[in-house]
Amino acid sequence: MTPDERKQALDEIATEVRGCTRCPLHLQRNNAVPGEGHPDTEVVFVGEGPGYNEDREGRPFVGAAGGVLNELLSTVGWKRDEVFITNVVKCRPPGNRDPEPAEISACAPFLRRQLEVLDPALVVTLGRHSLQTFMPGARIGGAHGTLQPVDPQTGARAAMTYAMYHPAAALRQGSLRETMTVDMCAVPDALTDARARRSAGAPAATDDRLPAPAGVELPEPAREELPDSPADELPDLVAVAGLATVADSDDQMELFG
Ligand code: SF4
Repeated sequence: MTPDERKQALDEIATEVRGCTRCPLHLQRNNAVPGEGHPDTEVVFVGEGPGYNEDREGRPFVGAAGGVLNELLSTVGWKRDEVFITNVVKCRPPGNRDPEPAEISACAPFLRRQLEVLDPALVVTLGRHSLQTFMPGARIGGAHGTLQPVDPQTGARAAMTYAMYHPAAALRQGSLRETMTVDMCAVPDALTDARARRSAGAPAATDDRLPAPAGVELPEPAREELPDSPADELPDLVAVAGLATVADSDDQMELFG
């Protein structure tokens, strides 16, 4: 898929999202929020769902939580338009309540199709609902800051997923801000690992991805010649240098935002 084809495919999904009536969340939305970002990025951030400001603007992470996310990205020298940012559900749950399982299920095809188009190397989950999509059964208190292969059924056919708290959690519980900064600082290493695993699973190929973020110099990953089920070739749980592994532990406060 060329960059133009990728952008067109993402635009088509966004158009479908804006007209979607698959679940009751469409009844109270002002704007659906399909997601936005660079169509050729290797990194996709997935939050839980739009909040008040996102619903008003039709864009993800534009409120206070978005400000936290922008600041976190800046700590590793990244900008939000260099990555792709979306949510598990594309319409705001009333009162910022948690999305219902049926709503997540109804909206899942849109996220899966976005990931199929983007084919990222790294999916960063923001919050526990996103975590459950990519690390089923994991608890955020133990999973944050860890890396794991993504099930290709999610649409990301050769990716690793890295867990983080939702930025809104840092607004409600200030002590989490330092934790989130530490976790974000490990994201470039997580991308490095994810790239290496993709490269190991396919011969080198030319591609037109974003330049490597500051401090990350690795060959571009192959896009078209990846094995059909690369996750089958990866261990169930991957410990990356400097990164923790998933472990059962207490679930800390996690907030939808
Ligand atoms: Fe459609 Fe998703 Fe919005 Fe529900 S949340 S109406 S499935 S776009």
